Amino acid sequence: MKNNQELMEKIVSLCKRRGFVFPGSEIYGGLANSFDYGPLGVELKNNIKNIWWKRFVHQRDDMVGIDAALIMNPKVWSSSGHLATFNDPLVECKKCHHRFRADHVKAEKCPDCKGELTEAKQFNLMFKTFLGPVEDADNTVYFRPETAQAMFVDFKNVLETSRKKVPFGIAQIGKAFRNEITPGNFIFRTREFEQMEIEYFVKEEDWKKIFEYWKKEMWSWMTGELGLDKKNIHELDVPDNERAHYSKKTIDLEYDFPFGRDELYGLAYRTDFDLKNHYKEPPYEDAESGEKFYPHVVEPTWGVDRSVLAVLCDAYVEEKDRVVLKLKPNLAPYKVAVFPLLKNKPELVEKAKEVYNMLKKEFNVAFDDRGNIGKRYYSQDEIGTPYCVTVDFDTLKNDTVTLRDRDTMKQERAKISDLVNRISESLNG
Ligand code: ATP
Repeated sequence: MKNNQELMEKIVSLCKRRGFVFPGSEIYGGLANSFDYGPLGVELKNNIKNIWWKRFVHQRDDMVGIDAALIMNPKVWSSSGHLATFNDPLVECKKCHHRFRADHVKAEKCPDCKGELTEAKQFNLMFKTFLGPVEDADNTVYFRPETAQAMFVDFKNVLETSRKKVPFGIAQIGKAFRNEITPGNFIFRTREFEQMEIEYFVKEEDWKKIFEYWKKEMWSWMTGELGLDKKNIHELDVPDNERAHYSKKTIDLEYDFPFGRDELYGLAYRTDFDLKNHYKEPPYEDAESGEKFYPHVVEPTWGVDRSVLAVLCDAYVEEKDRVVLKLKPNLAPYKVAVFPLLKNKPELVEKAKEVYNMLKKEFNVAFDDRGNIGKRYYSQDEIGTPYCVTVDFDTLKNDTVTLRDRDTMKQERAKISDLVNRISESLNG
């Protein structure tokens, strides 16, 4: 396991320096544990979300998507049990008054000053606000702490408009908010984050089989689409007393982050708990038998920000002269960078711009004419760009360029007319 503070600091520093992730509101001194995705971070994050949507929604016949409001009728949260039970145990140090999540404190002493801690109190994690100008109990609403409830609340509308039959799923990508007691470890635990969730509706007798199926799908996503090293991923069967209030079985998929092993994704069997809470009558009718019932739910859930972090940690490699992000090409913010060999030769710059504009119709492309070629290569390696294309004097004669591979650092001559195909091929791998 990589338990490595220094590595984490290097990744955080690269993220800031190169525009992946910045501290939020930095010019005002920041806001505790809030982060903004910069120009490269938003590309990486969007690539992850788009690939996820393609794989789990577009490429399947049994899945549809929704994009629901963040603020829902507060009755949703009383019915779902979140108002009563979406709590974390909070302890306070009697000496320095710092607060901690009780289950995160190991030695029953304050981690900061070793002072004595209070008894744990339950603290509700939902963020509150008010709808409209009057700030009273009647107007209190909550930012959703998970995207999942919208899939249950919209279940009938989705069913009627999509005509799906059990087993089928509803997917959503969106923000969730939790007033975490102890956020930290960069974008691992923040108070505002993004989830990609599927509520998969099944007949009760099928849940075990389907749970196993989704476990495999999640593994295949992590090692396939995200390219994470299998060695760094672990399964944890969550014990009874640590499971969320709605779950009868939960598996956490954990990742060896530089700060230690912790939850990347979760897979839960939510039974018919949610649909029963929201619907007085069974909301589903079997087309053949006419039987009405409450479908049971298997829920695979993926944190977007934790995906970004795991991908960055897994891809970060230090070699003799360079730092490389060995991102899978389909995740890389830029697919290719174009350079004119010399900045002060207008004919090279013009030709390089032409190649750049052609490639830009297909991919996100970088252009760089600063410093020497070696520095430009290293600069692209550090942000994971799989290919660099250099336009030189031969290009002007025969329309070929130098194509340089990020991982092998090999250079070869390639025809300009072959570039789109060459780069596209690498994105399918
Ligand atoms: P934890 O035990 O780490 O608090 P959880 O078990 O409460 O997480 P879930 O309710 O299962 O988390 O949420 C689903 C997914 O959402 C998690 O697997 C994780 O990827 C992501 N997630 C949850 N809380 C946060 C957070 N505060 N910041 C970033 N991502 C989060």
